[in-house]
Amino acid sequence: MRNLILFGPPGAGKGTQSAFLVGHYNLVHLSTGDIFRANIKGETELGKLAKSYMDQGQLVPDDVTIQMLESEVDKHSQAAGFIFDGFPRTTAQAGALDSFLEGRGETISSMLALEVPEKELRSRLMARAATSGRTDDADPNVIQKRIDVYNAETAPVSDHYRAAGKYKGIDGVGSIEDITLRLMAAIGD
Ligand code: AMP
Repeated sequence: MRNLILFGPPGAGKGTQSAFLVGHYNLVHLSTGDIFRANIKGETELGKLAKSYMDQGQLVPDDVTIQMLESEVDKHSQAAGFIFDGFPRTTAQAGALDSFLEGRGETISSMLALEVPEKELRSRLMARAATSGRTDDADPNVIQKRIDVYNAETAPVSDHYRAAGKYKGIDGVGSIEDITLRLMAAIGD
């Protein structure tokens, strides 16, 4: 199996690039943000809980997020591999993902980290607000909070995969097509 983590700050282009990569490599795309938003739309208990954190730009608690991710992976027993988008976002989530995959005789193949300067992230997210309908894109304070949470809690996750020799930094500035080509060059055939 090929299990990729598409990593990077909010606005780095993880969702956009995942859409190209899943088709090319025949992988299942699991975006924890998308799954939470589907639950909010469906007005589930999980959706209500997630919304209270997402609207503040905070992370949904690890136990809830990890459980949800694991049950999504289990729904795709025939998958050729996964793209994890927006997960893991804490070192606890990374540890849980590693043990979960190990229990299935699997592992993370690589972490592809989209590198984009903060100034560019802020302007991308504000532009996205016009079309995404996402309340967390519309408020500059929430955008800043998400970037701060990324720097404090999520960025350290890259050290975990760096230590395992699985980290691949990708320049995330340029045209969508160019960035897809950089990712594909890093992933290989
Ligand atoms: P995203 O669509 O990846 O930008 O995620 C939107 C929001 O969903 C984040 O700001 C968090 O509130 C929540 N979220 C998504 N993925 C996670 C995760 N792995 N852990 C905790 N919260 C998450």
